[in-house]
Amino acid sequence: MPMPPGFRTRLLPMLEDVANQFATPFHIYDEAGIRDTVQGLNAAFSGVPWFREYFAVKALPNPRILGIMKDLGLGFDCSSIAELVLARRAGARGEDILFTSNNTSQDEFAAAAADGGCILNLDDVSLLAKVPRLPELVCFRYNPGAARRGNAIIGAPEQAKFGVADSQILDAFRAAQARGARRFGLHCMLASNERDADALVQTVAMLLELAEAMGRALDIRLDFINMGGGLGIPYRPGDTRFDVPKLGRETARLLAGFGARNAYQPRVFMESGRYVTGPSGVLVTRAINRKDTYRSYVGVDACMSALMRPGMYGAYHHVEVLGKPAGPDDRPVDVVGSLCENNDKFAEQRPLPPIADGDLLLIHDTGAHGHAMGFDYNGRLRPKELLLRGDGRVELIRRAQSLDDYFATLDFPPRVVAPQRRGTPSVRGAADDATAASRRTLTGTPRG
Ligand SMILES: *Cc1c(COP(=O)(O)O)cnc(C)c1O
Repeated sequence: MPMPPGFRTRLLPMLEDVANQFATPFHIYDEAGIRDTVQGLNAAFSGVPWFREYFAVKALPNPRILGIMKDLGLGFDCSSIAELVLARRAGARGEDILFTSNNTSQDEFAAAAADGGCILNLDDVSLLAKVPRLPELVCFRYNPGAARRGNAIIGAPEQAKFGVADSQILDAFRAAQARGARRFGLHCMLASNERDADALVQTVAMLLELAEAMGRALDIRLDFINMGGGLGIPYRPGDTRFDVPKLGRETARLLAGFGARNAYQPRVFMESGRYVTGPSGVLVTRAINRKDTYRSYVGVDACMSALMRPGMYGAYHHVEVLGKPAGPDDRPVDVVGSLCENNDKFAEQRPLPPIADGDLLLIHDTGAHGHAMGFDYNGRLRPKELLLRGDGRVELIRRAQSLDDYFATLDFPPRVVAPQRRGTPSVRGAADDATAASRRTLTGTPRG
């Protein structure tokens, strides 16, 4: 069953009341479930001398949730300025934060270095020359290319925009050494929603092999390896679970072997998002319409502004109707929102019990990459977030977006500029001639 049993037991008896008090739609997250998952993850890695999970902030960037992560001792993996600010507001400082950006801007480097800095995870060797102040500790994101397969969401490594190529990686660290870096980390993120623990075990093995090669070639002892995130969750009933104890055991075994051969062991980091919070969230929405045309449709009061994954990747999210268990009368329906896009569907041709207006639907596994991915297209605003706390009370942790929020970016002092024109466009070749000619027809004869 996709929704964890503890979460069901805690939430379902009170859900109708919660829905009446707060009004649908909303995501609701389970504090006890999140804490259990993190404790289980740490227990699985108890054989690794120094393990730390850096929660991938993009999965669930709510300050109240990040406060729980901080309390549990997690670090934070960030890839934007807003995520850095979120992590620091949660109390994270310095090496509590990994900054794994790509196509990084100068503003992002400045934000990474501000407020006590963070661990800088560089996506390319060319960035070494662009970091204003290279920290003592430098990490590179490694992309093994054709040596590994990747998967559907993240793509094949050699087509992925991320990371330093295999042929460049030793030179990248050599260049970092030359620029004064003294401590080093090695990162890789190949999988997304991968439920086979062996894929991550292979990543750990690959990183450790590269660490040995770096030791030989550059006399570098790695401060840490970071196996990335991408641990999958069972979205579909019957999906197998990611075997986290196996990943922990195998990592400890590989690390011990590495330690015996190299007389040291690097720390081990992970930056999981989905695995940590995904199953501990559901989107709760009310049925408001039904229509039977070529297909049967159940219209609900949430839409893809609350959850993009089905529309974006055709991702499966389990749907359940409160108080109406699945049975022989189930009939296929499309569960739809009201956005003017035909992919605004939470489920397509899904067998569900007969649904009446007013029924509550639970869309499972929205605790990661759910609310966070939402958008405002079509003027569809984003829903509120609630936390089912450890003490059994329910707290509003983000209000719904309002019309005022929607119009907020239109509220600014007037600003009109008369741009200066450069001189005559240079005419070098046929293509330029054609461009200049079309510019003349569009805008009249250029000045100059
Ligand atoms: C998205 C992302 C993660 C988290 O991915 P999950 O599938 O949620 O575990 C971790 N690291 C990086 C660099 C990412 O982009």
